[in-house]
Amino acid sequence: MLRILYGNPLEYIEKNLGDDIFILPDSISIRNVEIYLLRKRGLEYFPAEKFFTVDSLAEKFFDKRYKIMPRFMERYICKESLKGIAFYRDLHESENFITLLLEEYLEIKENMVMGKMPNRIGEFFRVFNEEYSKFLDRLRDGVKVKGEIWHFLTRAEMTYLLASELSKMNGRKINFTGFYYISPTLKHLIDELRRNNYVTFISEPIDAESSIILEKRLMADRIDGEGLKKFKSELYELPDRRREVKFIANFILEKISQLGLSFSDFVVAFPDAKVYQWYVEEIFREYKIPYFIETRIKFPEMPYFNYFVEKIGKISPNDLNDLKNSLSNILQEIMIKFMDDSETILKMWQAIQEYFIEIEALSIKDANRAKELLLPFLYTVSFGRFYGNFNTVPIVDLGNVHFRKGIYLIIGGMSDEDFPRPLRGDIIFQNEASNIYKRDFRTHEGNEKYRLYSAIQNFQNIIFTYPYFNNDGKRVLQSYILDSIRVNGFSDFSIIRMGSTELIFNKGRIYSERDAKILNVNKNGNSEQNEFCSIEELRIKISNIDLTPSHITVYNKCPRKFFLMYVMEIKYPEEELSPAKRGSFAHDILRDFYKKYNDLHIISKMPENTLKKEIKDMVNGIKIEHDEGMAFKSRLSRQIYDAIKTDINISSERKVIGTELPFMIEIGNRKIRGRIDRLDSMQDYQILIDYKYSKYRDTLNMFIKKADELYNPEKDFNLPIYILWLLKVKKSKKFVAFYYPIVSMGRTSPGKWMRVYTNSATPKEFLSNNASFFYNNIFIENLENRIKEIIDGINRCQFPMTENKNICRNCEYRRICGGMNEL
Ligand code: SF4
Repeated sequence: MLRILYGNPLEYIEKNLGDDIFILPDSISIRNVEIYLLRKRGLEYFPAEKFFTVDSLAEKFFDKRYKIMPRFMERYICKESLKGIAFYRDLHESENFITLLLEEYLEIKENMVMGKMPNRIGEFFRVFNEEYSKFLDRLRDGVKVKGEIWHFLTRAEMTYLLASELSKMNGRKINFTGFYYISPTLKHLIDELRRNNYVTFISEPIDAESSIILEKRLMADRIDGEGLKKFKSELYELPDRRREVKFIANFILEKISQLGLSFSDFVVAFPDAKVYQWYVEEIFREYKIPYFIETRIKFPEMPYFNYFVEKIGKISPNDLNDLKNSLSNILQEIMIKFMDDSETILKMWQAIQEYFIEIEALSIKDANRAKELLLPFLYTVSFGRFYGNFNTVPIVDLGNVHFRKGIYLIIGGMSDEDFPRPLRGDIIFQNEASNIYKRDFRTHEGNEKYRLYSAIQNFQNIIFTYPYFNNDGKRVLQSYILDSIRVNGFSDFSIIRMGSTELIFNKGRIYSERDAKILNVNKNGNSEQNEFCSIEELRIKISNIDLTPSHITVYNKCPRKFFLMYVMEIKYPEEELSPAKRGSFAHDILRDFYKKYNDLHIISKMPENTLKKEIKDMVNGIKIEHDEGMAFKSRLSRQIYDAIKTDINISSERKVIGTELPFMIEIGNRKIRGRIDRLDSMQDYQILIDYKYSKYRDTLNMFIKKADELYNPEKDFNLPIYILWLLKVKKSKKFVAFYYPIVSMGRTSPGKWMRVYTNSATPKEFLSNNASFFYNNIFIENLENRIKEIIDGINRCQFPMTENKNICRNCEYRRICGGMNEL
């Protein structure tokens, strides 16, 4: 007998715990059911022996030597097998191989969604399948591991085996919960079971069309449904992710104190929890909210991984046993060194054990080849972290939230960019006369929407939040899904907008009193700027800022930007390969290089290959975890080489006095501190050097050539401030100062070397290709006065918006401050 039930799986499971077996989609679902039941029923009751996934059922019913091929193994095998298949190189000389593969893949995917197998197996899959299936046959027939024969089966094969095994059972109550796609093998399993048992298939609500497919496929004897629940919801717009997470933290604390709730009454979901991890860790910790992030972590992200890589780089094993022993020793060493990560180190050891089984299956005998393949393998493995104690706020991926239950569900990150799927697609909800409400599972978008709705059913209140502007500075529109919820009358939204140009941060509870007050003043634009100074806390904050040349440059660019960046401290997370990060990698390499080689004459005598190798080694030593890391490193090596060659070409008779030299100068009663990239000496000149990793033209534009340019917002004050220090603090007599360009696009050509500043006759070495700007005493006085003016503006809390639209155009704060409106 088979029954299909549309409803909430959690509630069904709770009411029917006496049934014999519950089969869930994956171990995360089981874990979530466990948390739910333990919370509802007290700590003692979770009948673990009744809950299975298809994989864990297989483990229970078969000898452990019958294993389902782990997914990462399939992926790994595919990648490795592809390498050896020469056909794809010959096959499509004139065609784009990837496009071909994708087309075939799409066809298969589409067919799978519609529940059919593909009509046509494309050329790629046909040839690839031959190779692949030979390999699978070998695994199925048995592979010798540790003196025993192991059989590796695909998930489908294992499900078929399982079906015949389970069909021997009689009169059991078996439940399949929350499977939204019925594969032929799962259908086979259900069919076998229903012959002699009571099988219930519990699905969350789906749309009519999909439910027909589901029902046809399963040929159910009975179909039931539950009523639609109306839920309360609120939508909050916040300017950026940081404020969004701050809002969520404040919200939780406020509700706990008002309503006497506990942390476990809240669940916070994001389309991709990892994107928010950075903010959650910082802000929840600050607000003292216990939390855990349910996310998947990859070994290369762990702090010990580089150490591990370094260590295995040093071993050269004689055979596979030797390799295994060495790895075990390395792991033990890491365990001692990185105690806090012992849990994941053990998981890595497990993964390595699996790996040995795999290389056995692949008949790899060469220990060094096995060592070589280990790292790519570890890159494909990830492990889940789903645990937290019971009184914590779970931070979960939206895709997993439908197995949770609580009083408040807070769904963050609702933006077109970060949460695209539920915003598209057509069918959202249908409330049928039969009270069956359904989902659209024809598309991936449909699945996501379905999960969102399922999740909503499990909570009393739903709070949506989303960052007000996306990374392109585009206004994010309210999502269609929310409109639909409202139009259908499922929920009355109270929409609360916070933060934007027109709508000001006016909720004391969202921001601290101080922030709200400051931002209200900020709203008033250019009116009475020093109103800011009437806020005591702000005044103290401003007077405590440690000024650097960059502060002066930013204020000169736009005082409002200075305010948002350094006073309000609204920060943006840096991408691993953002322009600023690229620049700082270049700076680090040059610092290390000139520290090691402080005589330019010696550098000029180095053979070209030695110099290149030295640079390459240094560049390769930097850690970059980004897909484009390798490509960037190779570009950076070339760029640094070009820059060093050009530097020597100007004059090799220079000595490096210092790199990253700390300096301090007092101007307008404020101290300005920082570090100078490099100071050289040449005859009786001191040479100030500021590295600039940017386009050649951008670096050229930074020069302040005459006094009236001291008011140009596009100019840079770093190098001029170093000059003031050299003259006023170090009492130097003669200087040359220049930007040392590491050209980020195009190549550095010695013929286009930079302009220089000087206060004396330009040394002949700098004459040939360079224009020099003469800084006489009058100019130096003007420069100092301008910096005093800037400092005075900061002290007096004057933060007007810039009038230069070009500056706004490239400003990351334009959505908050409103500069963009005027463009
Ligand atoms: S958008 Fe314009 S006015 Fe606003 S902070 Fe940026 S540069 Fe200044």
